[in-house]
Amino acid sequence: MTQLIPQGQPGEHTLPDDLNQSHAGAAIAAKPVGGGVARRGFLQRTGTGAAALLLAGVTGKVLAAAPTPGDPNRVKLSLIQDPQTEQAESTPDPAAAPDQRVGYAIVGLGRLSLNQILPAMSQCKYSKVVALVSGDSDKARKVGRQYGVREDAIYDYHTYERMADNREVQVMYVVLPNGMHAEYTVRAAAIGKHVLCEKPMAVSSVECQRMIDACRKAQRFLMIAYRSQYEAMDRMIARRVKEKQLGPLREFIAGNSQNVGDPAQWRLNLALAGGGPLPDVGIYCLNAARFLSGEEPHEVIASVFRPADDPRFREVEQSVHFVLRFPSGWSATCMASYASHESRFFRLQGAQGWAEMNPAFGYNGLQMRKGTLVEGKNATIDITIDPENQFAREIDHMSLCVARNQTPHTPGEEGLQDQRIVEAIYESARSGRAVRIAQPPGPTRGPDPDEETF
Ligand code: NAD
Repeated sequence: MTQLIPQGQPGEHTLPDDLNQSHAGAAIAAKPVGGGVARRGFLQRTGTGAAALLLAGVTGKVLAAAPTPGDPNRVKLSLIQDPQTEQAESTPDPAAAPDQRVGYAIVGLGRLSLNQILPAMSQCKYSKVVALVSGDSDKARKVGRQYGVREDAIYDYHTYERMADNREVQVMYVVLPNGMHAEYTVRAAAIGKHVLCEKPMAVSSVECQRMIDACRKAQRFLMIAYRSQYEAMDRMIARRVKEKQLGPLREFIAGNSQNVGDPAQWRLNLALAGGGPLPDVGIYCLNAARFLSGEEPHEVIASVFRPADDPRFREVEQSVHFVLRFPSGWSATCMASYASHESRFFRLQGAQGWAEMNPAFGYNGLQMRKGTLVEGKNATIDITIDPENQFAREIDHMSLCVARNQTPHTPGEEGLQDQRIVEAIYESARSGRAVRIAQPPGPTRGPDPDEETF
């Protein structure tokens, strides 16, 4: 017998088999209950037609099915421009109504939450903020008033577990210093909540494994917020690589740097940060080398620099350089610094072309270029596309995964593999030797995010 994994609290809200169809007629993936939801590979994709999003609410009833291409609910307008020659004009599907959206608790009200995540919620189609967690109750109440969060849905780090009784909260979004991610993920899973956790996943691979195990045991999803993996130009490049448009890969070159200020900030505290620029900004270079190529490195050689006379770098490195080698013969040369003017870029070179982003990794203003042979001439082509809110894309992806009972594209295994490589980089820098990196025991990513849902 199969049944759908419940969307709200564990052990509740099972959808009966006769609701196991969207109104568009697309089957929703069903699976035998028993395995943890985070277990790799067991979740079936619902298929493109089953973009047929079922938003099952906390009552367990099917509240709505979002329109999909070919769906009678899709908003149709007559075309003005020729879709053969112009960008396909698409009228966005209507967003889900507030009572049909997946509810989030934002855990930690620092810069990222206040400046990016909460504002992005207004651009989400399937997600809403329903609770806040902060050690500063005045700040939380003010922010709550701004975003329509009820006073009784404001928690602190001691009352965190009370959210077990708040059935509106389906996902806890952990936006705390890196050294706190593991504790607050494990505690969220223990009260039956799904977790979206900021990068880097944690400060050690032991912690990462603990987070995966806790979510698996609780049958809750764990997604790591690798924003760039949901960004349209990055995804375009990954597709070009997959389609072999660049030819065999040869080199990847990437940098991510910024000047840090206050020496007392947690980013310069080893226990809270897990390292310096490597886990904070260098991880974008490392993760991009992996997801753009779809390959896993098998060796790294690295060095770090820590000046003796700069009070910012008493505990963590000022800069890191590392070269990852990949089994098919190409290499990724990456650097990250906390003492250079803001600079974020990458170029991926293949035998038949290259693709680059400069700036890369940022929240906005991204630019892409490609180099290729055009009519026998070396040509450079600039590509600019309509900007999209990356945070809204990744948060909505998590909501769709919860609604569809589908493994996120960037689950805990993706964060764990990055953390293993971070540890190999530090080991190489310490020993001065190349360090072997074990291939992950299985795939580290879930199904690609749907492009058409955004
Ligand atoms: P921040 O310092 O601005 O905010 C951290 C929050 O944690 C604050 O509200 C702070 O009060 C709270 N906190 C609770 N206990 C704390 C403690 N013991 N020490 C310090 N702060 C404590 O940090 P941020 O820039 O918002 O980063 C938060 C997380 O988001 C980090 O994991 C970071 O790597 C990640 N991040 C991701 C992106 C991205 O683009 N995805 C960008 C920036 C930061």
